Amino acid sequence: MASNSQDLLIIGGVAAGMKAAAKARRESPAMRIAVVTDEPYISYAGCGMPYFIGNVIKDSKKLILREPPYFKHMHNIDVFTRHQATAINITSKQVSVRDLEKKSDLTLSYDKLIIATGAQPIIPPLPGISLDNIFTLRTVSDVLRIRACVDSGKVKNAVIVGGGLIGMEMTENLVLRGIKVTVVELLDQILPPLDKDMAMLVQKHVMEKGVGVITSDGVKSFAGNGGDAVTTVITGKQKLPADMVILSIGIKPNTKLAQESGIVTGISQSIKVNERMETNVPDVYAAGDCAESVHLVTGKPAWVPLGSTAAKMGRVAAINATGGNDTFQGVLGTLIAKVFELNVGKVGLSEREALKEGFEVESAIVPAGDKSHYYPETKDIIIKLIADKTTKKLLGAEIVGEGVVDKRIDIIATALTFGATVDQISKLDLAYAPPYAMSMDAIIVAANVLGNKLSGKTVGILPSRVAERRDRGEEFVVLDVRTEMEYKGGHIKGSKHIPLDKLASRTQELDGSNEIIIYCRAGLRAAHAYRILKNAGFSNVKYMDGSILAWTYGLEK
Ligand SMILES: Cc1cc2nc3c(=O)[nH]c(=O)nc-3n(C[C@H](O)[C@H](O)[C@H](O)COP(=O)(O)OP(=O)(O)OC[C@H]3O[C@@H](n4cnc5c(N)ncnc54)[C@H](O)[C@@H]3O)c2cc1C
Repeated sequence: MASNSQDLLIIGGVAAGMKAAAKARRESPAMRIAVVTDEPYISYAGCGMPYFIGNVIKDSKKLILREPPYFKHMHNIDVFTRHQATAINITSKQVSVRDLEKKSDLTLSYDKLIIATGAQPIIPPLPGISLDNIFTLRTVSDVLRIRACVDSGKVKNAVIVGGGLIGMEMTENLVLRGIKVTVVELLDQILPPLDKDMAMLVQKHVMEKGVGVITSDGVKSFAGNGGDAVTTVITGKQKLPADMVILSIGIKPNTKLAQESGIVTGISQSIKVNERMETNVPDVYAAGDCAESVHLVTGKPAWVPLGSTAAKMGRVAAINATGGNDTFQGVLGTLIAKVFELNVGKVGLSEREALKEGFEVESAIVPAGDKSHYYPETKDIIIKLIADKTTKKLLGAEIVGEGVVDKRIDIIATALTFGATVDQISKLDLAYAPPYAMSMDAIIVAANVLGNKLSGKTVGILPSRVAERRDRGEEFVVLDVRTEMEYKGGHIKGSKHIPLDKLASRTQELDGSNEIIIYCRAGLRAAHAYRILKNAGFSNVKYMDGSILAWTYGLEK
């Protein structure tokens, strides 16, 4: 090791650690900076790993953004791979380090320390868990093992345990490799950060791709049919053939080292930091997946381990550790993922989370085109906006669709950061030309729909609630106002059909004492029909949010 006395020592060499190292060097050209990491690789793109398995990214070297010699030659930073920090003495400002190759120990002293130890996958202690071909995906070593297993050509069936974001990305990429995939999820929906109605849109799409999705069922054990490798996954309800298993049931922060050193942890055992990324111990900072944050909507501590957050936290920690002053304000849990042809994004609180936080919630599900409807490549996106009924402030958004989702998620992220109301969002001056948006962007349309609900101008009902109430045998009329051809192509079971252009002259066919729930394809005609019926004196009328595009409970012809 170059010197056992460092001005800045960083533990962990991926997103947060290497961002911190590079930024610290830019801030302080003369400082002695070193990074220790227990892995053989540094500065790699964990987020790109599923695409290497799917052979979308062909060369594993592309995942490794920088190697230790680069940091030495370009930044004069010493990076020590396969060196594990085993203890931090916060009084003497020393870190005990184990050289995993030489099997020897050394002690490094520091003036400032940044802990960027990240997180690790949760591995459930189930019978058969140590059989071969049961993998987690976190590191470069993991991805190389999984890729080799897939490349062997012996994997016909794979089971993904856990239907979260990584589970979904792995599903798509294994299907790309010609593997039959089944996802097993303990909850009653995949993609737990999303509300069920939005997650169901993704589930339907995934199943249309031939993927088996089993929800409300947990894995109990793995069996190997007498051999070393897994052959069967046994859930609470069934046995699934499996030549390969990917465990993606969640991660936990790597904070044992910090905890044992007297550094305080908070939510989900992540390291408590202030907005300067300082821990409770002077001169010790934490950043990335091992560190706690603050949720910008609730103002409460939050642990949202994401690469985008890790890099920003690492930067702030570096600035402060080198004598500067910067702050990391918090997170919105902003996420985006590609699941086959769908783009799936979320920012802020879901409706479920908002209710749990005690907000009085109003929400709207609104399908819209991502570009002008007449433009050739226009695709639908389905937006769910969630707002606080009292303050009329937006709380969160979820967007699913084949069209452009990321820009709308980022618009909402910006709006949420500045505490915008639904009304303010509906008046944003967003860019427009036919290849990019409708003249009123989908976000503005959605904000207008939610604004109408918030002001009591219209009353909507979520498709999931219509399905629940129908399943409970509740009495109400479901009115389809699409054309004859659309109706014949598939409609909600038991719905009455009156096309919008005939509705005003056929209102006598409807009984005003009944509750009437209207739908069309995307919501616009249902909104017109709502107004027609209201004007005709019908009092108990609602339109179904998102109409057929958001209905995932089957159609009859
Ligand atoms: C498959 C996959 C897909 C992802 N996709 C996305 C995405 O699309 N968008 C997004 O924002 N995020 C994504 N993420 C999350 C993102 O990769 C992480 O948030 C990010 O890697 C966190 O960086 P980090 O530096 O905090 O921690 P880590 O990447 O966990 O790095 C910490 C490093 O510290 C090392 N270490 C731990 N303890 C010690 C010790 N005692 N001594 C020495 N070294 C130690 C670890 O071995 C590791 O090398 C994805 C993650 C995975 C696995």
